[in-house]
Amino acid sequence: MGRLYAVEIVYRGIFQKTLAKNLSRAIVLAAHKEGKPGISFGRYGDSPERNGIPAKSFAIVATDDLTLEEGMAKYEPKEVDVTIAVDDTLCKGVESWAWYGLQPINRLLKPGGTLIVTSREEPEALIEMTHRKEHPYQLAIVKGTPSFSGLWVYKDDHTDVRILGAMARLVPDLFSLVSLQEVIAQEWKDSVKATSALRSYERITTVTVQPTQGNPEKPYQFEFPKWHEMREGIAIPSISMGGAVTDEATGKAGGYRPARNPTFKKFTTRTMRPVIDFDKCIKCTLCWLQCPDSCFDVMPDGMYDANMDACCGCGVCEAVCPEKDCVTMVNESYFHDNASQWEAWRKDPQAYGAWAREIITHRPEDRSHGFRFRGQYEQQVLGEFSDSPPAHGAESEEKPPAQVTPEAPQP
Ligand code: SF4
Ligand code: SF4
Repeated sequence: MGRLYAVEIVYRGIFQKTLAKNLSRAIVLAAHKEGKPGISFGRYGDSPERNGIPAKSFAIVATDDLTLEEGMAKYEPKEVDVTIAVDDTLCKGVESWAWYGLQPINRLLKPGGTLIVTSREEPEALIEMTHRKEHPYQLAIVKGTPSFSGLWVYKDDHTDVRILGAMARLVPDLFSLVSLQEVIAQEWKDSVKATSALRSYERITTVTVQPTQGNPEKPYQFEFPKWHEMREGIAIPSISMGGAVTDEATGKAGGYRPARNPTFKKFTTRTMRPVIDFDKCIKCTLCWLQCPDSCFDVMPDGMYDANMDACCGCGVCEAVCPEKDCVTMVNESYFHDNASQWEAWRKDPQAYGAWAREIITHRPEDRSHGFRFRGQYEQQVLGEFSDSPPAHGAESEEKPPAQVTPEAPQP
């Protein structure tokens, strides 16, 4: 019996689809250079993908055909050697649209396995977001802004080869740097990308995360019904209407909160969240009307409070709000809970206002979904390469990538 390697790439649906595909494909190709057979595939339950909703690709490699066959007899891997999270906010947990229940990002990691995250954060910040694991594992950060693209355009900022370069160093049995460089020459024909992979290989470091470290929250568990407990036929109960909201401090009634699914945690779709400056709100109702997920609770004073368990971070409320800086999308990695903003504002408006003014400086331009004007990606990619010194593995003396490559339309 040979050795089986399993790698999962956890990504945001549509926005990082091509990145995940490039990674899983290159892993298999690099291993194949060393005589190891492998296969890459996407998680069936994630298809068709939805914008931003966590999705997975897998790369399965073995030392021989029989071991690969045996490994592939499973529906999908139950444990992996490496988990790659290509957006650091995925460390808060992953809820697929196929509703597997919220899962920790490190759930499938084997003891001593490696979690690779693209992030500008330090290890402490990522560990705080990530659920605790019963055994130690390694955390490696590929320094850089999480790379987001559109359905038809790939943002070629070298995130792909920087992650692959890190893997060649961290899991050398899977594939070597030499094999990776051959794949880069074959697939991308770009010597600058080869240099980025090399720099990442040279610079990547890991920290060991102990079982005592991380988010202690117990993620939601499903209790599947036994066959004899199932009802006849299929009946899907509708969501109820919701109910009144009363201000506990003043006793004032008149608010309304729609009922929501208590177990489907849409917040893991979010890479940015709205921050509302209630002192600027003119109660125009537009955010409440336009939110595609009915996230806003109407509060007894006529304000609108976005429910952070339900918000998927689409940014529509920011786009429709007529008041400047009243609703501002902010990088999700700056938040540590899903508490009500309205309640914090009611308790201490001055402290809330100071907090809101500070936190809205962390705007998520670099995470914008899709591209909104011609040349936006070129701007972002050039920005990535003009940092001095770049914290991304790409050398400052390297010239920027030649171009943003449009993808062929898909059926
Ligand atoms: S970002 Fe705004 S509009 Fe979008 S889901 Fe969240 S609250 Fe609703
Ligand atoms: S859109 Fe802006 S101003 Fe209008 S109710 Fe919502 S937060 Fe207030």
